[in-house]
Amino acid sequence: MPKVFKYCPICGNKLQKKDLGVLQCVSCSFRLYPNPKPTTAIMIRNEKGEILLVERAVEPKKGLLDLLGGFIEYDETAEESACREISE
Ligand SMILES: [Zn+2]
Repeated sequence: MPKVFKYCPICGNKLQKKDLGVLQCVSCSFRLYPNPKPTTAIMIRNEKGEILLVERAVEPKKGLLDLLGGFIEYDETAEESACREISE
């Protein structure tokens, strides 16, 4: 990872290097992961126009509402990943 990230983009405090190269803000909960991965975000709307949201089970943002979705596995297409995430 290039050493261009020294400060938190959220609060401006220093970023500290953690395990696996993760950079974590010394002040807030912001974490910068050195290995961004492709993901899916799925929006399901019923006939009433209601949108399905899920409660995040893990950090970051555990307990907050989110769209269905997750990381695309190595051998999946985005569509296959979306179907797997919905079934999970
Ligand atoms: Zn911060």
